[in-house]
Amino acid sequence: MFDALKERLDGVFGKLKGKGKLTEGDVQEALREVRRALLEADVNYKVVKGLVENIRRRAMERSVLDSITPGQQVVAVVYEELMDLMGSEPKPLTISPKPPTLMMMVGLQGGGKTTSTVKLAKRLSKGHKPLVVACDLRRPAAVDQLRVLAESAGVGFYGPEKGESDVLNVIDGALRYARDRLMDVILFDTAGRLTVDDEMMAELDAMKARIAPHEILLVVDAMTGQEAVSVSEAFHSRMDLTGVVLSKVDGDARGGAALAVLATTGVPIKFAGVGEGIDALEVFDAKRMAERIMGMGDVVGLVEKIEQATSEEDVKRLSSSLKKNKLDFNDLLAQFEQIEKMGPLDKVMEMIPGADKIKELKDGEMDPRRIARMKAIIQSMTPEERRSPAVIKGSRRRRIAQGSGTTVQMVNQLLKQQSQMNDLWKKMGKGKGRKKFQMPKL
Ligand code: GDP
Repeated sequence: MFDALKERLDGVFGKLKGKGKLTEGDVQEALREVRRALLEADVNYKVVKGLVENIRRRAMERSVLDSITPGQQVVAVVYEELMDLMGSEPKPLTISPKPPTLMMMVGLQGGGKTTSTVKLAKRLSKGHKPLVVACDLRRPAAVDQLRVLAESAGVGFYGPEKGESDVLNVIDGALRYARDRLMDVILFDTAGRLTVDDEMMAELDAMKARIAPHEILLVVDAMTGQEAVSVSEAFHSRMDLTGVVLSKVDGDARGGAALAVLATTGVPIKFAGVGEGIDALEVFDAKRMAERIMGMGDVVGLVEKIEQATSEEDVKRLSSSLKKNKLDFNDLLAQFEQIEKMGPLDKVMEMIPGADKIKELKDGEMDPRRIARMKAIIQSMTPEERRSPAVIKGSRRRRIAQGSGTTVQMVNQLLKQQSQMNDLWKKMGKGKGRKKFQMPKL
């Protein structure tokens, strides 16, 4: 998601940052492009208008235009406004102090409701004993789908008795079932339709009255863009939603829904579905999303991964290499070791700011064997060579290739890669991205 938007904004910001001095005209022009990029990302025009107006007001302040780094300040304003638009703090689920906590999952057919119900239950099974309940009496296939998914996720399942025609009986049965088994969170997977229709809404109303849920979560498909936003409005006006689960953000959705749901409906997006697998559900984090859009890479996610994967000593070494102004082979070696611990590599590489711009890092070339080879090459270098790669000329290259059991071509490639990363590093040192990448938490 956000790929096209990110690319467009990269272009706008590149121009802005390149200027030492900004006039009001420069900002106006940049904002026109930001506006166009957002509309292309399928964000509702009213939301775009409000957002661009806020950015304009803040960016035109003299303190911004007269600052030493006006371009970066404008970029920072855009980042903050995008983050605010999506909700600055993640909104946690309500867990009732008096169990059971009751949640209704609502949404249109095909939106990802059943999958998201099980994903959420699985997530809650750390610390809770959840039950998922199939409430779609018209589509037996939907009941089976929930049963199968629940079994594979290892969460409790309750479905209608054969021939049951009243969904309120299913609710009562599920409540008894959960009480007898001390299950403390109950997720009701309600029946969806292809469009918002009165019959569905009437059924949901009746269910809501019987359940008195703590959470009513609407699952909408991010791929449907503005449509997802109008579906959210329709459900919210009738049901008072407590949150949205935005599914399929892993696809090539343009991102409009993520940006506009909160602004349009006032309902926070609480979770994002990021794949078909049962674990592919993330807490929706506006800060992380804004960083993704701004092309800073998923730095927060990377920091978390690093924290999970590294010892105290590793962290110190990494953070001191991040503070230096150049990246030598010692840093690269340390980072390869880090990366090996963090696994799956393609996911990690996606998160490193700028990594998508380095051709050698694309196309699955960062596989474990390749990393092992690159490590061997670095380990065959002398300490001086690792510190000052520029001294590695012809005969040294041959020696290193021999020592590492690789070829001169591979050594050349790694040298080129190090030099590209070093350039990128220096560039980031001048921009806001670098500040972000210094990882204040470390
Ligand atoms: P429902 O009709 O609303 O219950 O929708 P389902 O849960 O059956 O999902 C419809 C399809 O979307 C299924 O093929 C799911 O595997 C797929 N799906 C659901 N959530 C996601 C997601 O976050 N990412 C991707 N890629 N696919 C998803």
